Parts: sequence; C-alpha cells; structure tokens
Amino acid sequence: MLPVVDLAGELVRINSVSPKAKSSTQNSGEIALAHWLTDYFQQNDFIVETQPVVGQRANLIARPRRFPADRPTLALEAHMDTVDVQGMTVSPFAAEIRDGALWGRGSCDVKGTLAAMITAALQWHHREPAPGLNVMVLAAMGEEMGTLGSQALAKQQWPFRSVLVGEPTNLQPVVAHKGLWRLSVETFGKACHSSRPEEGVNAIDSMFRLQEKIIHTLAPVFMANGENTLSMTTLHSGSMINIIPDHACLEIDARFAADTEVEAHWQAWQSSLAGDAAKLMELERKPAFSSRPDSPLLFALQSTAEKHGVVFQPHSERYYSDAGHFSAAGYDAIIWGAGDIRQAHTVDEHIPLQQLHLAVDRLLTLFEQYGRR
Ligand SMILES: [Zn+2]
Repeated sequence: MLPVVDLAGELVRINSVSPKAKSSTQNSGEIALAHWLTDYFQQNDFIVETQPVVGQRANLIARPRRFPADRPTLALEAHMDTVDVQGMTVSPFAAEIRDGALWGRGSCDVKGTLAAMITAALQWHHREPAPGLNVMVLAAMGEEMGTLGSQALAKQQWPFRSVLVGEPTNLQPVVAHKGLWRLSVETFGKACHSSRPEEGVNAIDSMFRLQEKIIHTLAPVFMANGENTLSMTTLHSGSMINIIPDHACLEIDARFAADTEVEAHWQAWQSSLAGDAAKLMELERKPAFSSRPDSPLLFALQSTAEKHGVVFQPHSERYYSDAGHFSAAGYDAIIWGAGDIRQAHTVDEHIPLQQLHLAVDRLLTLFEQYGRR
C-alpha cells in the first residue's frame, strides 16, 4: 500500500483531462486512470468492477473482498477526470512536491481526496479483526463535463444509504448546492440584402423582443426567491454585415435552489414564448443538492470533528457536483474533501500535503463513528 502522498502523485501523473464534449467517446485518460486503479485495488485485496458509461469511459466500483452483506456499508465517491491544463504555470503531470504541497492538475480537484479515500478504505479493511462497517469506493468518470458518471451511478440500487462525495471543502461538510437549468432560444427570420430590409424578416429584432420578455417577465419570476440566478451567456446571429439575419440563438444558464419547481417554470416559459415564432429548448436540467435533515453521515462527520477537536462548519457552495444526482435519487449524500476549492482549476493547482494526511485520519474516525450508528 502506498503512502497517501505517493498515491496522490501517481494519480496526478496520469493525464485524465475530461473530453470537451460530455458525450465524447474519445478515449480519455480516465480509462488509463481506471486501469491503474483497478490494478492497485486488486493488489490490495479489493474487487473491482468497471461500468462503461460513454464508449470505454467507465465508472469504477471497488469493494473489499470480505464484504459481509449483514453489515452496514458506506460509500466514498470522487471523480477521476480533471479540467484542461491550458495556461498552467506548473507542470500539470509531474506531481512535483515542494513547499509542503503536491502540485499539478487534479491534485486539489480531486485526486488528492480520491487518494485519501482509497488509502483510508484500504487501511480500514486491513484491520484485524474485520471492522463492522463495509467501505466501498466509487470513482466516477466525466464530472467536469456533464456529470454523466455520477448520474449513471445514482440510478442503481446499492448496498449503501450514505455516500461521501469528494470535492475540495477544507475537510468541512458541504450540505447544499444549487441545481442547473440550461435553455436555448432560437428565432427565425427571412434573409435578404440589407439595402431592402422590408423584403426580409430580421431574426435579431425578434430575438431582442424576446429578450425583453425574458428580462422583464420570466426571469424576475424565476429569481423571485432571492436565491435563483439566470444569465444569458451566449448569443449568435448573422453572417454578413449586409445581410438581414434569418436566425439567432441565445443560450441561458440558470441556477436554482432545492425548493424551486423547475417544471412549473419550464411550462410557463413554453406557453409564454409559444406565440413568438421562436424555438425554446431545454438543454440540461440537473437536480439541486440538499442534504437530508436526518443525515446519518452528517451526524457522523460532526462526531468526527468533535473527536479531532476541530470546529464543525456545514455550509453550502455555489458549484455543481456529483452529489446532486445522489441526493435526487434518495441517497444520504454529503460533499467533503481535502484542499480548498479556490485552488481547483487554477494555473498552479496544488494541495497541501498536510490536508492529505488529515483527510485519511478523519476518514478513519468517520468510519468508526458512522459504523456506531
Ligand atoms: Zn471536482
């Protein structure tokens, strides 16, 4: 078994940048990483199953060889992919160790936490006598682009009720984040030469009228709870300065709190824009995350913090994560991990080594506390 810092370094050395498109079947480094992890788990007496999600891009599920069905089970989940390395000022895959930190793409988001989860799970299951709690590890593909891996995982029936979702949270629980709703609006016109505009229909003019409706009518209703946000993020139209455009396309990115009735908003948008000769499409709708009020995992994290004499600060975050799918499917999910989210996706991504050691210690205490319940 490797020390946690060495394991994190091995994971960083494998380039697992997410493909640009979420449904890309391009063989990304996630596959190489899953192969490496399979070998590592097997060498340490764990059984591994890989479940392809897109092409050969697969989720990996690892459980101890000794897995008594009559014992409670806790799942640890983290994603294997990373964001791109463009513009990085540190070597992305060298896994350099200096100034008390591990440097490279994914070190913080989220290979450091994945390494800590694996190390703690292996250490736990090599204890004698066999502990009263089964710990399994789920390594997901495609989190950074579409969260398809966790979506596939959350649809299945598992022997666990609680899942700890790894993201950099400074070892504090994240108990809520918003859902994601993405729309596109298209308007259509009739092209003609701009010297005779009366012979055409201008799709940009139609789009502006529609935008007015969105800004003054639809968006305020959606954002009335003071938490939801809605932004127009892309707008494309026109081909030449002297041609009346026959097509315009606007994209909208909205984020919503857990109690938002997105379906009702969707119906309202559809009927409101129905008469406008426009095409409204829902591109993506992903559930908000909100932990259960009676979360056994959160209680166990609280007693873990008490055992270690550290403050316990559950909080919410603004980013999207794999926890959305798990909580929507009824699992008791909490986001937790080593490192600071402000270090994620940066040009000099790194994670303090101390965070990795602390993460392993806290996880082992968490297993004890959770197993007690
Ligand atoms: Zn992440």
